[in-house]
Amino acid sequence: MNTTINKRPTVKAGQKNHKQQRPSKGKKSTIDINQLTQKATVQPVSTPYEAKRSFGQMPLNPRLLQAIAKKGFSKPTEIQDKTLEHLLAGRDLMGVAQTGTGKTGAFLIPLINRLLSGKENFRVLVLAPTRELAVQIDEEFKSLTAGFKLYSQCFIGGTNINRDLQKLGRKSHFVIGTPGRLLDLYQRRALKFIDFGILILDEFDRMLDMGFNKDVHRITAAMQNRRQTLLFSATVDLKQQEFIDKLLKNPVEIKVSNGEATGKHIEQEIIRVTEGENKFRMLTELIQQPGFNKVLVFAETKRWVSKVNKKLIQSGIASDEIHGNKSQNYRQTALKKFSSGRVQVLVATDVAARGLDVPDVTHVINYQLPATMDSYIHRIGRTGRAGKNGKAYTFIN
Ligand code: AMP
Repeated sequence: MNTTINKRPTVKAGQKNHKQQRPSKGKKSTIDINQLTQKATVQPVSTPYEAKRSFGQMPLNPRLLQAIAKKGFSKPTEIQDKTLEHLLAGRDLMGVAQTGTGKTGAFLIPLINRLLSGKENFRVLVLAPTRELAVQIDEEFKSLTAGFKLYSQCFIGGTNINRDLQKLGRKSHFVIGTPGRLLDLYQRRALKFIDFGILILDEFDRMLDMGFNKDVHRITAAMQNRRQTLLFSATVDLKQQEFIDKLLKNPVEIKVSNGEATGKHIEQEIIRVTEGENKFRMLTELIQQPGFNKVLVFAETKRWVSKVNKKLIQSGIASDEIHGNKSQNYRQTALKKFSSGRVQVLVATDVAARGLDVPDVTHVINYQLPATMDSYIHRIGRTGRAGKNGKAYTFIN
């Protein structure tokens, strides 16, 4: 990651404040500004991994190769390159990789290839910690399998369960979802975990963090025919090791660098808000500068997200919001509007925005300082994806 921190304010401070900004009611930030500066500046510039082979040189079905080429992928990312043969051979895997490293392709490509070969017949269950991530995986599956007669279904909370029950009558090779909804369908005896031979736990560490612990245990316990398990995690937590050991049989362990699918170039700046300055006006002025085409603004609480979004709209900026209090339909629509450029700004909380892959985000703005350094890195990682340049601003009171 190519990072430079400029501690000087970069925008002209707005006029005098009429009303003092109240501090966030969210979790108090544990970030020490000096640490943030240091950590961000000392990070080495990572050299993107360069695979020695192209997809065309990998042992893959020509139809799948065509679908991969159609997506614009020419070479595998590190995790894809290092895991392919193991996954084709049916091995269990512990992959230490974050979202953005191409891990969805890493598990989809070999498994789709195996289904296409016609030699095996299996169903795959994919668990993801957020609804958006589940939808993203489902979309990636569909884009890789168009015309193959391979099908996926996605089941997530916040949607009509009756429609899910209807969908379950149809054939599917991949079932992707969030644990709560999948268990709901299981309890209604509509979904049988025993039918699945392969289990993928995406963002495993986060999933256990987000309170899905019991749900994940219940699902895995009900998968008596599980013969292959793939686990992806950004970190390996010693507390989770026991569970990991129980889940995996003789696994291959592949660890990849934290980098994105391609090189990442994020320029970071801190904007100091001194007393008497109108922070909101500074935000509006910043967003109205040229080049701020697709801007993701983070705030700490759902209330603050709504408040900032409302104010941006009042200032004539096309903006929408995404957070846990919004219905799933609303969240997906807001995300689509932002992805397609129908709104310039998306204001979000951490929970809603984690793991999202929105192309061409030009700027990330931390309207409020995130609670942890990890969260900071995650947030700014929404820009500068796929080799593009990105810029991140963080407001500091
Ligand atoms: P993921 O880590 O699966 O969320 O992927 C991050 C982004 O990288 C997504 O936009 C993918 O479509 C993209 N991607 C995945 N594999 C490749 C590849 N081999 N070459 C270029 N981009 C890729």
